[in-house]
Amino acid sequence: MAPERLRETLGELIDRPFRADQIFQALHVRGVRDFAAMTELHKDLRARLAERFRIGWPEIAERVPSADGTCKFLFRLHDGASIEAVDIPDGDRRTLCISSQAGCALACSFCVTGFWGAGRNLTAGEIVAQVLAIRADRQLPAEGLRLVFMGMGEPLLNLESLRQALDILGRTISLRRITHGRSGRTWRCRCTRPTTGAARRSCRSTAAIRCRSCWRRCAATRSSAAARSPSST
Ligand code: SF4
Repeated sequence: MAPERLRETLGELIDRPFRADQIFQALHVRGVRDFAAMTELHKDLRARLAERFRIGWPEIAERVPSADGTCKFLFRLHDGASIEAVDIPDGDRRTLCISSQAGCALACSFCVTGFWGAGRNLTAGEIVAQVLAIRADRQLPAEGLRLVFMGMGEPLLNLESLRQALDILGRTISLRRITHGRSGRTWRCRCTRPTTGAARRSCRSTAAIRCRSCWRRCAATRSSAAARSPSST
């Protein structure tokens, strides 16, 4: 949750409003997985938080490292669903490719996820937790990270969770470093902001979400991606 929502949710549990910011920093900057490790909070508050809440990260079911340093993660979610994410080092760049759905209904002909069919939308927490879990596993700071939503699922079909996840992730990772793929779906922007060039493309495709958008790279060209994707019909 973003600090504002944390403040609302925790309500009377926290004695001062800034506690929500401290908890957010502990969760999303330091990647703390246990309330007991939030030593900036007093002991009573840590105990009350632990009684009422759980910090839920997905289980890493498998890691598949490659010789080039890339590592694919298979995560098992609380209901048994599986999702994948990939850590991609590239010189001084570090990109995490994450999933927005467990499965995908769009069934693009080139895609294994599409072959297995629709699953379910991920919650914002499940999207954010992929980043936290990989950061902890590979000991990566948030600073300088790049994110691409090109794992399992079509992000624009899970727009509310995507929006909430970006509201959280955008506090530690610049939105300019976050890109969501799209499978050829068109998207009507309701924004009246005058934009040009790349900004217009980004604005059109993401509506209220201010991160970059790109077409799936797995197809050679935009037209072939559109032709292969059911959403282009
Ligand atoms: S939208 Fe993405 S995840 Fe879904 S079937 Fe197409 S390529 Fe696969």
